Amino acid sequence: MSMEDYDFLFKIVLIGNAGVGKTCLVRRFTQGLFPPGQGATIGVDFMIKTVEIKGEKVKLQIWDTAGQERFRSITQSYYRSANALILTYDISCEESFRCLPEWLREIEQYANSKVITVLVGNKIDLAEKREVSQQRAEEFAETQNMYYLETSAKESDNVEKLFLDLARRLISEA
Ligand code: GDP
Ligand code: MG
Repeated sequence: MSMEDYDFLFKIVLIGNAGVGKTCLVRRFTQGLFPPGQGATIGVDFMIKTVEIKGEKVKLQIWDTAGQERFRSITQSYYRSANALILTYDISCEESFRCLPEWLREIEQYANSKVITVLVGNKIDLAEKREVSQQRAEEFAETQNMYYLETSAKESDNVEKLFLDLARRLISEA
């Protein structure tokens, strides 16, 4: 008999340039908070949140990078055993979008070949500062077989949807 308090356990890892809002997305989802100002780094390896999907308890172990976002400093150990990756950029920062191919190379090199990757364009509340159109991002995601979603950790737009959709996909492919 299993003593576990969940039906599924998935490891989700957030990657993407520093400053795109990874920590804020995790905080918004796990704690319902948007931390004011700078220094949003959680300082622990991962956060846990258990959600219920169609009567199944799904435990999500969500790994955030604590200021190690430079390429190749996040190594194999971080990607190993990830069931899903949330590759995040900032829609108001072209540079964060242009770095995506570098992140994809890392994924290819280190992640499990069955990993599910979601591309997230965060900070959609900064619409007036948008530098990357939704269409351009969608087209890019499609060429890479990634799901695409736009979020605002600040306004809590699509954050719940991001993690719950991902959990549903993970269950359906488990
Ligand atoms: P990380 O380096 O990827 O973990 O990024 P952080 O979560 O630390 O966020 C970097 C900065 O972006 C912080 O100043 C946040 O307040 C800000 N930020 C994060 N998410 C959003 C968002 O959805 N909208 C806006 N306007 N700012 C955000
Ligand atoms: Mg962070």
